[in-house]
Amino acid sequence: MKKTPFLTLEKAKEIAAQYPTPFHIYDEAGIRANARALKAAFAWNPGFREYFAVKATPNPYILKILQEEGCGCDCSSYTELLMAEAVGSVGHDIMFSSNVTPYEDMKKAYDLGAYINLDDATHVEFLERVTGGNLPETVCLRYNPGGSFSLGNTIMDMPRDAKYGMTEDQMAGAINRLMALGTKHFGIHAFLASNTTNNGYYPELASQLFRLAVRLRNATGCHFSFINLSGGVGVDYRPEQPASNIALIGDGVRQQYEKILTPEGMGDIAIYTELGRFMLAPYGHLISTVLHQKHIYREYVGLDACASNLMRPAMYGAYHHITVLGKEDAILDHVYDVTGGLCENNDKFAIERSLPEIEIGDIVAIHDTGAHGFSMGYNYNGKLRSAEILLKEDGTFQLIRRAETPADYFATFDCTEFKFGN
Ligand SMILES: *Cc1c(COP(=O)(O)O)cnc(C)c1O
Repeated sequence: MKKTPFLTLEKAKEIAAQYPTPFHIYDEAGIRANARALKAAFAWNPGFREYFAVKATPNPYILKILQEEGCGCDCSSYTELLMAEAVGSVGHDIMFSSNVTPYEDMKKAYDLGAYINLDDATHVEFLERVTGGNLPETVCLRYNPGGSFSLGNTIMDMPRDAKYGMTEDQMAGAINRLMALGTKHFGIHAFLASNTTNNGYYPELASQLFRLAVRLRNATGCHFSFINLSGGVGVDYRPEQPASNIALIGDGVRQQYEKILTPEGMGDIAIYTELGRFMLAPYGHLISTVLHQKHIYREYVGLDACASNLMRPAMYGAYHHITVLGKEDAILDHVYDVTGGLCENNDKFAIERSLPEIEIGDIVAIHDTGAHGFSMGYNYNGKLRSAEILLKEDGTFQLIRRAETPADYFATFDCTEFKFGN
């Protein structure tokens, strides 16, 4: 499907007059409509809840919007927990899905009353230490089935190579130990394939986790209160890709639920999700201005944004669609490499991409940067993180994170010994 930016050239110019490019911008209306579609898709499950994966877009203004739509926060580190706390998430509004967890992080999650998702069976003893033996009533366990994860004839991922989760036997052992320590209810969590737009992913994962829950219930006698399907539902980064159909996905999970859990008397289990990308990616653009062009063995367009604003193309060779604002309908009769200014040749947002003729000063929208965009940013080459802006439902805009300044970059040095200009 043709990818259309959610803001016009006029709007981009209006915003850039106040907050210079590059900046990330988020579409409140799109975020809310999508969150409601997810909720509707799982409305058949009374306990359903999405815990937004904070790492995807760690901004309290975004978390607030999702909170208003009924979402909780999925955190995996101390600072993510602090951010959830700052927007008023407490107790079971927070899912703590971490791995290689430091003591202070676990302690903070416990003190907040978060659902704690244990990555390993040895973390039962760790949790005992952290809590002084006063364990939470409900504990979640992360599952790793090993082998490969397939949909039909397609191998989607290789859980046996993944560092996360524990084996079924280890889960049974952990449950028995936790029950002896007083834990009454359990959750199961697994994340077995990333960014998949195959609508069969969640239903297949659900089917595996539901069957696992039945087996573990039979083996231990424990009570499961939720199953957390985690993240992984993908988005259509490429225009020719189909988008995930969340209504179909929700219904596919319902069918497995009614087939596997309901007949076992386990129809009280709540379904949780921990989506990041699906919730935010399409509702963010990185807006950037063309600074330079050069003509060597290829045609290059150089932007004021670079990989430190959006790492995915450099890191994964990921495709991000690019629209030249104001030239939405122009023919794509030029071929460019679109680059940032890092001293790294992988700092390319697009390689040999067909685009309309580009001039210096043009403003481009790089699509689908709302998740794992700003958040993966870094300061290599002394590049500074950009601002984040919210395009509100009424068409006005709000700065929700200012751009870094040189002073931020130097802030961790001893400024009594060194004096930095700005
Ligand atoms: C990254 C992550 C998510 C979110 O993944 P998406 O691909 O953004 O949906 C959810 N849960 C855990 C534990 C994660 O690490």
